[in-house]
Amino acid sequence: MLVALEAGAKERTMAQKVLAATGQNLYRCLQCAKCGGTCSRLDDADYTPRQLVDLILNDQAGAVYRSRTVRLCAGCESCQVTCPSGLNLKKVFSYVVEEAGAAGIRADLGPVDRRFVGAAFCPKSRSKWTAERSDPR
Ligand code: SF4
Ligand code: SF4
Repeated sequence: MLVALEAGAKERTMAQKVLAATGQNLYRCLQCAKCGGTCSRLDDADYTPRQLVDLILNDQAGAVYRSRTVRLCAGCESCQVTCPSGLNLKKVFSYVVEEAGAAGIRADLGPVDRRFVGAAFCPKSRSKWTAERSDPR
């Protein structure tokens, strides 16, 4: 019975794993890009913080775990101060770095594949963004 339940159990999404580990519900992200505007570590980054949230919500774990941005994060929490949803990306990126380290995944220093990264939204489009996504809890 237990085996059958486990076999039928739905695999958790990356956003659900992040929520369980860090308490940060990335489904509350409005894709406004304010976090990138305040981040001082983007000179050598590959993805912006907003793009990383988008990748996590789209279950692009490989790109997230190999990202340079998560390793460059200084943990200053400026992005949380400016985030309209109060998301703490420092916690999210620390979790990603820990998971990548445990899996032996190193940063990708090559060209960045942005096929799965959507555009930032203007305020008028935010309702569409949030309506398309359900809360993982
Ligand atoms: S906590 Fe990290 S991602 Fe956020 S602004 Fe600071 S350096 Fe950038
Ligand atoms: S500032 Fe907050 S809501 Fe806006 S894109 Fe960044 S994480 Fe999402």
